[in-house]
Amino acid sequence: RAKEAGRNGFQFFTQEMQSRLDARVTLERGLLRALERDEFVLHYQPQVDLASGRIVGLEALLRWQSPELGLVPPMQFIPVAEESNLITAIGTWVLDKACATLRAWRDAGLPVVPVAVNVAASQFAHQDLEATLRGVLEKHGVDPALIEFELTESLSMEDPEASIAMMHRLKAIGIAMAIDDFGTGYSNLSYLKRFPVDKLKIDQSFTRGLVNDAEDRSIVTAVIRLAHSLGLRTIAEGVETEGQLRLLAAQGCDEIQGYYFSRPLPEAGIVAMLRDGVTMTLDVLR
Ligand code: C2E
Ligand code: MG
Ligand code: MG
Ligand code: MG
Repeated sequence: RAKEAGRNGFQFFTQEMQSRLDARVTLERGLLRALERDEFVLHYQPQVDLASGRIVGLEALLRWQSPELGLVPPMQFIPVAEESNLITAIGTWVLDKACATLRAWRDAGLPVVPVAVNVAASQFAHQDLEATLRGVLEKHGVDPALIEFELTESLSMEDPEASIAMMHRLKAIGIAMAIDDFGTGYSNLSYLKRFPVDKLKIDQSFTRGLVNDAEDRSIVTAVIRLAHSLGLRTIAEGVETEGQLRLLAAQGCDEIQGYYFSRPLPEAGIVAMLRDGVTMTLDVLR
């Protein structure tokens, strides 16, 4: 039987399919165990205001501290979590952890700043998101203004009318909202006008090309103008160099986030920065 199957290639095909499926099932099981054993951690990356040099926000970025695999970056497990139903539970964990941390910082007397949380498409489509958000904010006694949701363009375009309605319900709770990776999805500008968002995050692919690519520079300039004319703030992602910083400041970008100022850090590193009131020197802009 196997010999026959091997000859026509059918067996080989199913074996490859099977091993891919096995790998996925193993990862899914690993993620479920990670939730049970509390193996997820949040790192935080500062968002810096270009007018004052102050840290005005933090993006919460998920990592999986796996005993077997080490520190696993989100791109290696978020897609699988999205395909299975695990993203809802993981997303709730992230929101709960961010709020618990904000509360602990406030109780410790630290000067807290808003925390931005990434929200996956399937999580956003889930009607429970609104109730989950309310519940978590209440549980930890956190001011809704201290939470920002980062949504992607494609997420909001899947079912624009439903997305807009959900966004309004979330905004009514009092959180802030940003469009992540702006310019990489297919932007329908007539919808952008109707999204109750506060901020556009310029994708790091455009930031990367700022200094050497005139087209990327034009796109960044246009996005900043567009955002400001719609009354939105802008933040550039992936800022790594002084050259990028200078160009962004010259174009009137409001905030930056990137390795130039700080990599995403574990909680202790961020606590030290908030406690010490670390700011970014703006000397290079003068
Ligand atoms: P994102 O939301 O666009 O996050 C920015 C990514 O850029 C982060 O990667 C961050 O570490 C990285 N980054 C920041 N500054 C720089 C820089 O100067 N240079 C370069 N080269 N990279 C920089 P990370 O942490 O690996 O996260 C990747 C993506 O995973 C995120 O992209 C987001 O889409 C997703 N993600 C992360 N945490 C969560 C989460 O809690 N829930 C969901 N649904 N997605 C998440
Ligand atoms: Mg993000
Ligand atoms: Mg992004
Ligand atoms: Mg991204």
